[in-house]
Amino acid sequence: MKLDNFVRGKWSGPGEPAAEIHSAVTGDVVAVTTRSDLDMREILAYGRAIGGKHLRKLTFHQRAGLLKALADYLTQHKDRLYKLSFHAGATRTDAMIDVDGGIGTLFAYAGKGRRELPNSKFLLDGNVEGLSKGGAFAGQHIVTPLHGVAVHINAFNFPCWGMLEKLAPALLAGVPVVTKPATVTSYVAHELVRIITESGALPEGVLQFIIGSTGDLFDHLTCQDVVSFTGSADTSQNLQRHPVIAREAVRFIAERDSLNAAILAPDAVPGSPEFDLFVKEVAKEMTVKAGQKCTAIRRALVPSAQLDAVITALRDRLAKVTIGNPENDKVRMGPLVGLGQRSDVLAHVAKLRTEAELVAGDPGDFALLDADATRGAFIPPLLLHCAKPLAASAVHEIEAFGPVSTVMGYDDLEQAIALTNRGGGSLVASIYTRDIPAATELAFGIGSFHGRVAIIDRDCASEHTGHGSPMPQMVHGGPGRAGGGEELGGVRSLQHYMQRTALQGSPTMLSGVTGRWFKGSPMLEGDLHPFRYHYDDLEIGRTLVSKARQITLDDIEHFAHFTGDTFYAHMDEEATKGHPFFPGRVAHGYLLLSFAAGLFVDPDYGPVLANYGLDSLRFVKPVQPGEQIQVRLTAKEKMPRNKQYGEVRWDVEITTGTGETAATYELLTMNAMRG
Ligand code: NDP
Repeated sequence: MKLDNFVRGKWSGPGEPAAEIHSAVTGDVVAVTTRSDLDMREILAYGRAIGGKHLRKLTFHQRAGLLKALADYLTQHKDRLYKLSFHAGATRTDAMIDVDGGIGTLFAYAGKGRRELPNSKFLLDGNVEGLSKGGAFAGQHIVTPLHGVAVHINAFNFPCWGMLEKLAPALLAGVPVVTKPATVTSYVAHELVRIITESGALPEGVLQFIIGSTGDLFDHLTCQDVVSFTGSADTSQNLQRHPVIAREAVRFIAERDSLNAAILAPDAVPGSPEFDLFVKEVAKEMTVKAGQKCTAIRRALVPSAQLDAVITALRDRLAKVTIGNPENDKVRMGPLVGLGQRSDVLAHVAKLRTEAELVAGDPGDFALLDADATRGAFIPPLLLHCAKPLAASAVHEIEAFGPVSTVMGYDDLEQAIALTNRGGGSLVASIYTRDIPAATELAFGIGSFHGRVAIIDRDCASEHTGHGSPMPQMVHGGPGRAGGGEELGGVRSLQHYMQRTALQGSPTMLSGVTGRWFKGSPMLEGDLHPFRYHYDDLEIGRTLVSKARQITLDDIEHFAHFTGDTFYAHMDEEATKGHPFFPGRVAHGYLLLSFAAGLFVDPDYGPVLANYGLDSLRFVKPVQPGEQIQVRLTAKEKMPRNKQYGEVRWDVEITTGTGETAATYELLTMNAMRG
């Protein structure tokens, strides 16, 4: 299998052989990278000019549609990726995490894009801020996609998930991608991009794929580009030191070495479900992907009194792990990705052993199923015990990226927190406890050093997603040693690829440019009721000011008995004496809403298909019997939903006879298109 690049809209075709890639299992050559003379300046320029232009023409919902179409297509063809993943040492379960996890992330972002983002090409951030005394000058933050390229440099361990989890937010934000896989598993990433290009799901220029060296790519980056890197701290620092990164203030997201911890709390004694969950999770994190996971548990912190019990339980559990050829169904753990990685891991273990003793596993003596130890990159799970963790440094700093973990004891929660934070910033920590005060102390003690903290107990035992699984909805990344970056986290991650701009101007200008009416911007009043307009014809700012209606004591009594809401504030004058909010008996808030609907509604059949809710409801001032109310209804924002109808957001204000605001809210209706 000769590997080539997908750049400037086509596959480059294989050039002269460059490097052989060997099977992690047999050592046979499985792929060959080839030399190609790529012009990185042109690649970036093409992405910006063609891919960026195509994406920025689309709304968030349309971009979400691309992700969905891509995910559907990949689902149908994923077996091709499974087949190749075996060569990288992945068992079927490992490959599922990579392949299905990646596709699942695309689906998750497609869903979030549809549900949580507007059907527009930009975002509004917060509300309008008044900036002048007379109201003639105001500001509104807008968020728009960068006009550059997202350069994604990925790690070897998840060739599919690693590519797709970065791709999804970038494309949803509207930024094209140049993606580079780690060479050692690039044949899996190559097949993934083959499937993507076959799908035809993405517009031209949106994705480019380069294998091997990035050449002089960094020399041509601008302030509109983003680099998102996953890999070792050394490479990350080298790349981050590139002068163009500093000069152009290129955004650089890094996810790198992480000494993640699992903490067994004092209440989780042997025999408790939390103790068992801890042991199971540590063993699982050591052996899934042969421990080659950025989120794997590298340090297992346990109360000193439980050290022996934990080591014994882990030793028993790890002894049952079958190691060997991942294509054999009985095998639970495959090899490392290659012989080079095995040498690195063993070298790191040697350094860890200066501070910790090996208590389970022997790299020189272990059984293998269906595989040859002299040809594959096999290594057994290696458990170490560090007796003096407070005085140690290597166990908190060296990431042996394989099936390796170190158990260490602590005396109290304060010490557990100090030891956990010695990781210098990590992607994730997990806590095993039912004791809420202990969990609180630990979570807040370690929170600022971690991107994610999972608290695991018997209540979530059957459903928790695992210490090591980054979920698309939740932040993935961590401070300090872990790189300081954030990925995923739902729509939060789009911000990396977008610019926030404070837009300032007159209310008329701001409302016109952003397409959102706000109080102080012009209102359009006319004879035709706003509910008589089809979605297409309704202008932002179209307003109805209703006639007034008096609220009587009879109204309040009637409403109370009719609905059953006889709360004292509406019924008992005596009870409201000296009350901090009510000057006497007052109308129900829901009565005001109901009367408001009666005042503004246009009853005849028309373009308004449904009222489907209220947002941001506030009862600002109580209304007493004898007072009048009046309603203003203004079309605030519109969002097309499909060819038949769109959503209209109305700004509603209920005022009293004296002109004071009694209630405000946003009413949502579905309005028919003209057709
Ligand atoms: P590297 O940092 O060497 O490689 C990561 C990515 O960077 C690869 O795509 C690699 O490409 C690329 N790269 C390397 N040098 C350059 C360069 N000068 N310019 C542009 N891109 C470059 O990490 P490895 O994958 O080799 O893993 C080494 C160690 O990193 C692991 O043992 C582990 O400790 C840690 N790691 C941490 C991860 C995490 O998420 N926390 C994930 C993976 C690894 P190429 O393969 O072509 O060299």
